[in-house]
Amino acid sequence: MKFGGTSVADGKKLKHVAELVKSYRDRGDRIAVVTSALGGITDAILKAANEAISAGKVSQVKEFIADITKQHHKAVHESVGEEFAEEVIAELDARIEEIEKALTGICYLGELTPRSIDYLSSYGERLAAPILSASIRTLGVESQSLTGGGIGIITDDNYGAAHPLDLTYAAVKRYIAPLIENTIPVITGFIGETEHGTITTLGRGGSDFTASIVGAAIGADEIWLWKEVHGIMTTDPKIVPEARPLPVISYIEAMEMSFFGAKVLHPKAIEPAIRQGIPVRVKNTFDPDYPGTLVVKDEKTSDNIVKAVTVVDKVALINISGAGMVGTIGVAARTFGALANAGVNIKMISQGSSEANLSTVVDESQMKIAMRALKQEFNNGVVGEIEHDVNIAVVAVVGVGMAGTPGVAGRVFGSLGENSVNVIMISQGSSQHNISFVVKKDTAAKAVQVLHKEFGLEKL
Ligand code: ADP
Ligand code: ASP
Ligand code: MG
Repeated sequence: MKFGGTSVADGKKLKHVAELVKSYRDRGDRIAVVTSALGGITDAILKAANEAISAGKVSQVKEFIADITKQHHKAVHESVGEEFAEEVIAELDARIEEIEKALTGICYLGELTPRSIDYLSSYGERLAAPILSASIRTLGVESQSLTGGGIGIITDDNYGAAHPLDLTYAAVKRYIAPLIENTIPVITGFIGETEHGTITTLGRGGSDFTASIVGAAIGADEIWLWKEVHGIMTTDPKIVPEARPLPVISYIEAMEMSFFGAKVLHPKAIEPAIRQGIPVRVKNTFDPDYPGTLVVKDEKTSDNIVKAVTVVDKVALINISGAGMVGTIGVAARTFGALANAGVNIKMISQGSSEANLSTVVDESQMKIAMRALKQEFNNGVVGEIEHDVNIAVVAVVGVGMAGTPGVAGRVFGSLGENSVNVIMISQGSSQHNISFVVKKDTAAKAVQVLHKEFGLEKL
């Protein structure tokens, strides 16, 4: 069971989570718990780190340290019994002192590397786990707080988006499987360690991924992700209030949704579950009796052709064009080669049949690196222009029922046209599990609303 940041946002909620875990334990379930940082803490740490590097003020660091100390102490007092409070507070204070040292160092050095960003941001979870564990102990249930690296989540050193090495699964099983027989381990989500013991993070929202790694390692019956929504929904409820929770969806659909921006799941969270064929359930911490969404292997989970609409707007469009490209062999290969060598992940590709134009979509954070790599690759005149646009969003329509069903694209683009949403670029994977397209950022919400209605998703 993984609990997200909103589920453990403060002491009251932590106490509720501890009670929830106990209620399942009382039914006889053996449970490993993965926790996120208290809501907003990871962002706050990253903000403090960026301020330390730009302003370099030690006084600002002290203010920040006082704030998070207060917030975490308060959470302890609200969720942990007196018999454990002192010990937990001592542990938190030691951790917080380390954060202060690191931030002060950044003030003086004026340097913040990807490795130190991972080190600092790992503290959110490292402060949360001891509190939740003590809160569970307060209810009379055995519990231990552990870190990702501590239980054997060993990753590569790709800081900010580290990936577990294969040996992780056996190591985690060795550690956790015997433990859950008589205690409830509370494991920090989001973080791992390299083989040399340096802390890494699995990418923002990575606690989902941790839960799935642990679940796959121990061969869990189910992996449960507890959040503040009723499950994976037909679209982001913040954009379409009529969005409905999906009772069942397939692994493929969940992956496509998270890849194309559905913030509800970390994009890699399904991968470990697939390895072992373990069902993943997304449930609401604040409405635990509601069944939520079950993510399973079966592809055809309902008659709906389209299941969901997603949008991602932290992306950039890169357009390569020029008459010299027509009939020239190797432009696409060189484009993808240059981007791959620069470590840029391509989200979408499209080429017009005139061959005078090749478009790719990349994460906004990788746009500058991508542009530099392409300009370097094509400094010889084959390509006329390389342009970028960050004022765009990618909208995707997802559903395995689309494969082989004629007319879906017609309905997608017909309804957008009728509602004056201009489409800049289109791409459909050959799997036909999604149709994705690019629009201007300020029309993205409208595109999502139009499509949600067109496919009757509010009536699900
Ligand atoms: P966690 O507490 O586990 O970190 P998240 O905040 O990552 O949970 O995910 C829940 C949020 O994802 C919701 O607040 C919701 O606005 C957003 N969201 C975006 N798309 C969807 C979707 N299709 N279904 C459910 N939630 C979605
Ligand atoms: N705390 C981390 C984040 O905010 C990981 C997570 O919550 O899943 O990104
Ligand atoms: Mg999340």
